[in-house]
Amino acid sequence: MTEAKRIDGTDFSAKLRETLALHVSELRDRHRVIPGLAVVLVGKDPASQVYVRTKHKRTTEIGMTSFMHTLPDDTPEDEVLTLIAGLNADPAVHGILVQLPLPKHIDTQKVIEAIDPAKDVDGFHPVNVGRLAAGIDAMVPCTPLGSLMLLKDHLGKLGGLDAVVVGRSNIVGKPMAQLLIKESCTVTVAHSQTRDLADVVRRADIVVAAVGRPEMIRGDWLKPGCTVIDVGINRVELPDGTTRLVGDVNYAEAVQVAGAITPVPGGVGPMTIACLLRNTLVACCRLHHLPVPNV
Ligand code: NDP
Repeated sequence: MTEAKRIDGTDFSAKLRETLALHVSELRDRHRVIPGLAVVLVGKDPASQVYVRTKHKRTTEIGMTSFMHTLPDDTPEDEVLTLIAGLNADPAVHGILVQLPLPKHIDTQKVIEAIDPAKDVDGFHPVNVGRLAAGIDAMVPCTPLGSLMLLKDHLGKLGGLDAVVVGRSNIVGKPMAQLLIKESCTVTVAHSQTRDLADVVRRADIVVAAVGRPEMIRGDWLKPGCTVIDVGINRVELPDGTTRLVGDVNYAEAVQVAGAITPVPGGVGPMTIACLLRNTLVACCRLHHLPVPNV
């Protein structure tokens, strides 16, 4: 059997960012508007610091304005809420992202709910969660949105396909399932209490893995020819003491069975930031009552 096609998220996201850059320059030249993304980081979590730096770089690269707010670990919750209120009111800011996880003394849900839903480019505010569930225009969480773009690029129309989403988090699994329902897939959401997960996964034309367990989904769980989107990012230690990133799917096995699969790294990961920029552009256009480009 031939090996699965490798779905290249690095390449797709680079093209998406190029398209976004064109729209940003058009907004600036025609309407004197520059989309602005504010990122709030509380504390010194090393992974979060890397993500935030990358977001800043990618934002400025395409001509948007990046507003970075780095606060110490012990910042009181009130101060974070006051900062968000200021960003909500700031006309130069069109997107607000609070980097998660927040330190334990801060109520994450309260912070999410303080963000103006129109500027909620992460799509975590209950208003956007509800709008997505109702199938109406919403700010959609970036990782599932990027995953859907890769799926549609590879498969075209998804209607009627059987999709299994493994994982039911608010950030990935649940919004992914909502997006696939909207595309008229028949969707099953599996989780840690699902009985005979292998059997459930084997029914799927589309498998989205968002579990956070290295290489848990095996090749012989897959229906031959299926499309696999591996959202997982897990750092594992090798016998020689070095580390490498792996997904939630055993790639070496899956590539022998699936029709197409996203690699880790280089699959869904780069799509997440590109979709954050896409959401910021969309929010900017809506806030300025300008036509929203079809990106
Ligand atoms: P969570 O830990 O919030 O959710 C994991 C989900 O997997 C839960 O619903 C859990 O079930 C389910 N699960 C755990 N163990 C099993 C099991 N043995 N069998 C079946 N289901 C199981 O993770 P996230 O959704 O935030 O992230 C998932 C993965 O995606 C992680 O590897 C993360 O690093 C990665 N990620 C990647 C992003 C990217 O940009 N590419 C962005 C965000 C996340 P239950 O609800 O029953 O506990």
